[in-house]
Amino acid sequence: MAEHRKLIIIGSGPAGYTAAIYAARADLNPLLLAGSQPGGQLMLTSEVENYPGYPEGVQGPKMMEDFRKQAERFNTTIVYEQAIEVDLLATPKRIKTDSNTYTADAVIIATGASAKWLGLESEQRLKGAGVSACAVCDGFFFKGQDVVVVGGGDTASEEALYLSKLCNKVYMLIRRDVMRASKIMQHRVKNTPNIQILWNTEVKEILGEKSVEGVLAFNNKTGEEFTLKVTGVFIAIGHKPNTDIFKGQLEMDEQGYIITKGKSTHTNIPGVFAAGDVQDKVYRQAVTAAGFGCMAALDAERWLSQQGLH
Ligand code: NDP
Repeated sequence: MAEHRKLIIIGSGPAGYTAAIYAARADLNPLLLAGSQPGGQLMLTSEVENYPGYPEGVQGPKMMEDFRKQAERFNTTIVYEQAIEVDLLATPKRIKTDSNTYTADAVIIATGASAKWLGLESEQRLKGAGVSACAVCDGFFFKGQDVVVVGGGDTASEEALYLSKLCNKVYMLIRRDVMRASKIMQHRVKNTPNIQILWNTEVKEILGEKSVEGVLAFNNKTGEEFTLKVTGVFIAIGHKPNTDIFKGQLEMDEQGYIITKGKSTHTNIPGVFAAGDVQDKVYRQAVTAAGFGCMAALDAERWLSQQGLH
């Protein structure tokens, strides 16, 4: 028999844990499926300087540990399973994980987004052998060496700054002649002597058989190709929402972000709510994700009460 809950939360980033804190304090006794990357994207971050309440900054993993402890303190059941199949149109809603099946009256989806890749064969082949999407996880292996960071957003800037402290030289490959990153991050990157920005530059191929030996890059204005001799390539070009298992059931935009109604977290299916980066491609901050998590728990509690289920 499938275990039944009033509320199941899928995802364990700031949105999922905040939804759990609010739902648990409302006596909903939620079950939280932590997914394939417990703690979400902040587990791959170093210093978080913009989350209110931490005047000195905080390490991403430490912050998520605090979120988890707070959720557990109020009776959230956390299971380290990944949802692999859902039937959100059924009553009750059904969720199959890699090891169990659960049913729930209401579901909050907080599955976040994942790093995007360039899509090159060489990139796939050399993942873990010099190609990475996480400087904090892998930067140590490139101590004193030369590396490339691809992207011009805040993530790429953070990665480049982190690597600049470990590596000899960091080339930042930016495909336009402007950066998307916030002004303060641009300023920091531009004022770091061992970061060299290459404008209008893209990766044609990552070189090397068993491990990264270089990058074949090209200038998209002049067509000029050149090789950068590096041992590491860090891809930081944005994110894709983790919504594949909900396709065909939940309304999404063309990029796969779940569509919510008005200023709420209600989706097109009654009793299903979406919070955080899985439905927000504009703000995408830990603090906004946490805010959406709170909204989703309040929306879910009201909906369950209206249905006579709570
Ligand atoms: P962004 O979407 O902001 O930036 C992606 C970058 O990658 C852009 O420079 C983009 O170029 C480039 N890019 C995209 N696709 C390709 C491609 N195929 N080849 C080469 N370059 C490509 O993503 P981020 O992950 O940087 O940031 C996401 C959000 O998180 C933002 O809102 C950001 O502010 C926030 N954030 C905040 C941090 C902080 O406050 N400390 C830290 C990290 C993230 P183009 O501009 O041409 O599209």
